[in-house]
Order: sequence, then structure tokens, then C-alpha cells
Amino acid sequence: MRCPRCSHQNTKVVDSRAVQEESAIRRRRECLSCDYRFTTYEYVEMPPIMVVKRSGDQEPYDRGKLVQSLQIACKKRPIVQETIESIVRKIEYELNQLAEESVESAKIGKLVMDALREVDDVAYVRFSSVYRQFTDLEHFKEALRMIESERKNPHDSS
Ligand SMILES: [Zn+2]
Repeated sequence: MRCPRCSHQNTKVVDSRAVQEESAIRRRRECLSCDYRFTTYEYVEMPPIMVVKRSGDQEPYDRGKLVQSLQIACKKRPIVQETIESIVRKIEYELNQLAEESVESAKIGKLVMDALREVDDVAYVRFSSVYRQFTDLEHFKEALRMIESERKNPHDSS
């Protein structure tokens, strides 16, 4: 594993642990040349899974696409890239658990919304608006209303 700071070839693993609820191993590494510490993740490669769009068309699951849409939703929000990566790993873990050959895009959208809701309200609403074509309008309005009422009663949320 090449050091991201000085490109030295040799690094050592200083800590290694399984990440709960994710099919991943998190490793802390240290560069043997400059002592820079960084994190890598080792995860099970996703078996090929088809995403069924609302139109009925299918396309292969694309991790990059998912990361990109999360980045758009989280733009200018206090959300670090590591959080986005963590959300993606959680979703892939869920998809692996399904053990299906295909999954509806709305299902993935729902998983993303559930994850974002715990992280950031604004990112959640943004993502919901991107995916609103996959849910009905009533669902979207309901989500907005819920967030509004949470804002009005900040000490009331469970
Ligand atoms: Zn280094």
C-alpha cells in the first residue's frame, strides 16, 4: 500500500478491525518512511447485481454513481468523504444481505434516505428530491413536513 503523502512503498498496519454493520475491515496504516497515518478499507467485492429502474430498464449496480449522487446531496454540508464512503458500504452490506440478483432502484433510494436522515437534514431533503420520481409526491411532502416539525421542536425529537 503506497503512502498517499510521500508515495513510499512500505507501510505497516497499526490497527485492524471489522466495521460493525458493514462488510468491511478498517485498517490504520503507518508509512515507514514519513510516519504518515492513513486508513484503508478492505471489503467484499459486490456480486454483480442489477438495478431495476422504475421504467423497468435494468442496469448493473454502479458504486461510482451512488457515491456521486451522495456527494451531490452532501455538497457544502459538514459531511466528510469518509461518512459518504461509510453510507455506501452500509448500503452494499444491505444489498448483500438481500442476496438477490436484482434490486429496485427505489429500494436503494430508500436505503440512502434512511442513512442520510441520520446524518444531515439538508442532504436528506436534497437526496429525496432527486429520488422523488421513484416515490410518490405525497411521500416526499410527508418527509418535508416531518423535517419542518422537527425543526420547530428541536427538543422534542426522540
Ligand atoms: Zn509516507
